[in-house]
Amino acid sequence: MIAEKMCGEKCGQAQTGVNWKNEMELVFDAVSSNESFARTAVAAFISHLNPTLEELADIKTAVSEAVTNAVIHGYENLYGYGVHGEARPAYVVIHPGKVWLHCLLEHGVLHIDVTDKGKGIEDLEQAMEPLFTTKPELERSGMGFAFMEAFMDELEVESVPGQGTTVHMKKKLGIGAWIHRED
Ligand code: ATP
Ligand code: MG
Repeated sequence: MIAEKMCGEKCGQAQTGVNWKNEMELVFDAVSSNESFARTAVAAFISHLNPTLEELADIKTAVSEAVTNAVIHGYENLYGYGVHGEARPAYVVIHPGKVWLHCLLEHGVLHIDVTDKGKGIEDLEQAMEPLFTTKPELERSGMGFAFMEAFMDELEVESVPGQGTTVHMKKKLGIGAWIHRED
């Protein structure tokens, strides 16, 4: 009964243990303008579950960090502004490449994979240490993986030097939907 009620009211099937799945995949060019596209797309994908603002912010930040890494480290596509506030970048380096964003919602858990076929990571353990960065000259702070770890429930990274990197993240959703439950 509760399951039926929740499905009607809050589209809560994913929280009830029913074997329910929803999946999507996007492939886009590895350019910085697609970072906001990717995080907005994931937010739209989960919007029917009524995520809390906190959940949304966490997920958008994690997706942004993973996609930014694919663009600037995986493919080394760089851009920079000479003068603060300039509309056009002072320099742009573009190496053609794609980023794959795969999302799966299952039993109220959101699985996100971000994959690039860029240069890969030589020393993964070191790369994942907070404050470690190979691009200090670009004012990177080395906190991307630390944020992904902090804002998601699980983080796993697979990388092969010369072949690319996949970041797997998981987060349990549904706090928002349960708050409104009427037994
Ligand atoms: P910040 O994210 O704070 O701007 P950052 O990107 O350097 O700085 P992390 O996101 O934690 O920090 O990544 C740490 C390091 O791991 C990077 O400096 C880079 O060397 C390597 N790295 C991360 N993602 C990739 C990737 N997709 N391909 C190749 N190298 C990567
Ligand atoms: Mg980063």
